[in-house]
Amino acid sequence: MIKFSDLNLDPKVLKAVADTGYEKPTPIQEGAIPPALEGRDVLGIAQTGTGKTASFTLPMISMLARGRARARMPRSLVLCPTRELAAQVAENFDAYAKYVKLNKALLIGGVSFKEQEAVINRGADVLIATPGRLLDHFERGKLLLTGVQIMVVDEADRMLDMGFIPDIERIFSLTPFTRQTLFFSATMAPEIERITNTFLSNPARIEVARQATTSENITQSVVMFKGSRKDREGTEKRKLLRDLIESEGEKCKNAIIFCNRKVDVDTVAKSMKKYGLDAAAIHGDLEQSHRMRTLDGFRDGSLRFLVASDVAARGLDIPNVSHVFNYDVPSHAEDYVHRIGRTGRAGKKGTTIMICSPRDTRNLDDIEALVKHAIPRSGEPLPEDDAGEAVKAETPKPSRRSRSAKPKHEDKPKAEAAPKQAEAPAPEAKSEKSETKPEDKPQERNSDRNNDRNRDSGRSRSGGGSGKSVGLGDDMPAFIAKSFDERMG
Ligand code: ADP
Ligand code: MG
Repeated sequence: MIKFSDLNLDPKVLKAVADTGYEKPTPIQEGAIPPALEGRDVLGIAQTGTGKTASFTLPMISMLARGRARARMPRSLVLCPTRELAAQVAENFDAYAKYVKLNKALLIGGVSFKEQEAVINRGADVLIATPGRLLDHFERGKLLLTGVQIMVVDEADRMLDMGFIPDIERIFSLTPFTRQTLFFSATMAPEIERITNTFLSNPARIEVARQATTSENITQSVVMFKGSRKDREGTEKRKLLRDLIESEGEKCKNAIIFCNRKVDVDTVAKSMKKYGLDAAAIHGDLEQSHRMRTLDGFRDGSLRFLVASDVAARGLDIPNVSHVFNYDVPSHAEDYVHRIGRTGRAGKKGTTIMICSPRDTRNLDDIEALVKHAIPRSGEPLPEDDAGEAVKAETPKPSRRSRSAKPKHEDKPKAEAAPKQAEAPAPEAKSEKSETKPEDKPQERNSDRNNDRNRDSGRSRSGGGSGKSVGLGDDMPAFIAKSFDERMG
């Protein structure tokens, strides 16, 4: 068994790790830490929850423990897609660097510009930032990136989803060519492959499939739902959600309820509260401090239900969730994998239930094509052959027919398109426009940057709507890999 002490980390870092109680490094840590400490570029591909944060923070702190920062020239830089993720990375730094004296600045929306500027002026060893905020500071002339020796890009696939790739490229170009780059992503879309080919130099490539997620520890199901009348649909769907929660009873210790749209996140949370369920909403339009408080409550168990959008929840470290409810079928298949990955962690049992309306069946097809198994319909017995074997079924669902013939979201309600109107389409947006979910516009875009070039619509998701499996690459939870075959080829 490999131990942390086998990894050449600074003794002060090892001591801090010992304080956390971790017994041994996770596979991504075991793979990424040694080459990082040797100064090599690292490309780490591993799902959420595999311990990627420590795979870069531990070697960074070890390396930064030697040397000193200079005024306005941070020595290292960590880029994260959202404020929450950046704040989490910062917490990790605090924990692992508690025996090492390092100055850290956090450049995210909701944290005072002034104070962070003061830290930078004194000399920051570590700068943790969202791309927009970082460029803001840079453009104000408050910051030089020419002293960056180590640059980390965390959750690169989310950066891609959120249209941050042009910013990332710009930031890369502002840092010295000789820097060390540590790059982490859950998936390897072609666009991400391109970036890593351009900006990483002979990286050590570590790919790890999440071990905890298997068909055995996540019980998945879909409930088909059709409103009796259009104007009652929302009410009936919320009632269905309550019924599903109720029927899970005590088993449902806590749950995340995912909605595709911010407006639904709010409505669902409000309605749950009205019916006596302990719920709170989290999405990109809410105040940072508010989101943090909600998350803290959910983590410490004082809040039972978290109603969330994909962006707000992505990558967040929320331990021990017993249930994940998909109020909507996510319109990007890989979001399903991320969503259900919030449960069934570390060998624990998890349950996930998804509500599927008639207009969502095509997205459901996409998900089943991606995960390569039929998701059992609850209340509906599976065909003979599949019985008991549902999760491993090799046969693609019959419903994949003619998907590519039709535009994907033709039948979505008008309201969904509305938030786009205020935005000028980015040049690269083109045909992707109809794919952009409102929640893809994180709050910090509005508040961080007034020269917003509408990078939100710059989604360049590979394979979106083309019927291709969107890049899980070789990295995928075991349950997905089970019946993987020629399709990925
Ligand atoms: P990722 O960035 O891959 O999604 P995180 O770095 O957020 O994963 O870690 C996920 C969870 O695993 C966190 O609760 C973290 O404290 C825990 N963790 C990280 N490394 C270890 C380890 N070596 N042993 C046990 N738990 C760990
Ligand atoms: Mg992470």
